Amino acid sequence: MNQKVAVIGAGLTGLTTAYYLRKKGFDVTVFEQADRVGGVIESVVEKDFIYENGPSTGVLGQPEAVALIEELGDACQLEIADEDAKFRWIWKGNRWHALPSGLMGGIQTPLFSWYDKFRILGEPFRKKGTNPDETLAALVRRRMGESFLKYAIDPFILGIYSGDPEKLVVRYALPKLYQLEQKYGSFIGGAIKKAREPKSDWDKKATREVFSMQGGLTSLIKALANAIGAEQIRLSQKGLIVERENDQYVVRKEDETLGTFDRLVSTVGGHALRKLFPFFPLAELEKIEAMPYARVAQVSVGFKKWEGIPIKAFGGLVPFYENRDVLGVLFLSSFLKGRAPEGGALLSTFLGGVRKPEMVDLDDDSIKALVEKELKSMLGLTKWQPDLLVINRYQHAIPQYGLESADRLAAITKLESQYPGLLLGGNIRDGIGMADRMKQGRQLAEIIGDSSN
Ligand SMILES: Cc1cc2nc3c(=O)[nH]c(=O)nc-3n(C[C@H](O)[C@H](O)[C@H](O)COP(=O)(O)OP(=O)(O)OC[C@H]3O[C@@H](n4cnc5c(N)ncnc54)[C@H](O)[C@@H]3O)c2cc1C
Repeated sequence: MNQKVAVIGAGLTGLTTAYYLRKKGFDVTVFEQADRVGGVIESVVEKDFIYENGPSTGVLGQPEAVALIEELGDACQLEIADEDAKFRWIWKGNRWHALPSGLMGGIQTPLFSWYDKFRILGEPFRKKGTNPDETLAALVRRRMGESFLKYAIDPFILGIYSGDPEKLVVRYALPKLYQLEQKYGSFIGGAIKKAREPKSDWDKKATREVFSMQGGLTSLIKALANAIGAEQIRLSQKGLIVERENDQYVVRKEDETLGTFDRLVSTVGGHALRKLFPFFPLAELEKIEAMPYARVAQVSVGFKKWEGIPIKAFGGLVPFYENRDVLGVLFLSSFLKGRAPEGGALLSTFLGGVRKPEMVDLDDDSIKALVEKELKSMLGLTKWQPDLLVINRYQHAIPQYGLESADRLAAITKLESQYPGLLLGGNIRDGIGMADRMKQGRQLAEIIGDSSN
């Protein structure tokens, strides 16, 4: 075996790839431009709070995510969100409404119009779509109605993608939903049939449970990095360039050669590829770069003593049509342990997204003022004295899988076949959530393992 593999990027994808490659016996080196591992994942312990600078929770929706965490054993402890996380709130007409989960709740909720509530009864009988590039908004209008789009799907998409359902193409952005309609002809009928189908032990690992790690998500990153070995991870490697010489990949920084590798896996975002791979043809690069990213400002707010309304839920989402300044707010301390002192609260709120990207450019004082205005009025706070307030801005937070996806994926395939030994991973393909990233990391290692046998 003894093949040398370089992995560019020490985020969750790169570390998962490197972890499985090491397990398979490859000689792996991870190159990371930052001075720490984890990419956008970073947990911080400060002033009796544990908050996250990037993602706070994920969903165990891929068996590979569960398998990886199981394999890491005692090195990190999975934390499943408690029951409160099952409740979601939606903002409409100046107050929160519970997102209904059952039939009675669905009939009674003021979130959806009576017309759409009756119309949903016909959902199982509606014809399935034939346009493979249908947007999420078009699909939901067709099958469920405008009010479901505005007050269920739109806020859901804000929560996951910080995105716009009019621009996301279902086949790429929500492939499981696309398959549900294509395979079973209906969301409702499909969900019932799917739940009844027998599942393999492997598939049973995937659930809808919301997860974090005890002490914060960084403990997963640390466990991966420890398993890979510190000597295999080279931090603070800014300005890297990859060149192709004699069918191998040479990683260089300025004039220094850092290593020559048989295989190279990139896990960087689409915007970072041009500098990293100067030999890539422009036509392919442009197709990958055409994928937009949502820009997001994430604000963690902590209170040692909570004096607002009871917040026993996963969080509240704010539909775009309500014209507020925040996209939503997660009530992290209500469903994760130890995130705030007893009787206190840790919240995480988001601004910006694809429909209000300019919010991310506001200065700190303006963001603080908006967060104060919104959270005070939405969460019933009469005074505003947070004990913690941390702002993080992400210029490339969440990729948006839209109409350009087919061209982007074709360009990735073309580059990989043009340059044998090169794999282009990361969030330019295969999903945006943490579970998707762990799945992809494992798959990348398997592709390399299989082609080396
Ligand atoms: C604000 C925010 C909230 C999120 N919320 C959720 C959530 O609730 N649930 C969920 O499941 N997911 C969420 N996500 C998505 C999830 O965090 C990501 O999918 C995942 O962490 C990305 O991992 P990655 O390794 O693919 O990318 P990254 O974490 O971006 O890692 C890529 C790494 O590559 C490095 N790099 C880039 N260019 C170079 C270069 N030229 N040379 C060397 N190194 C380079 C970067 O420094 C970085 O460390 C969120 C993301 C953000 C930003």
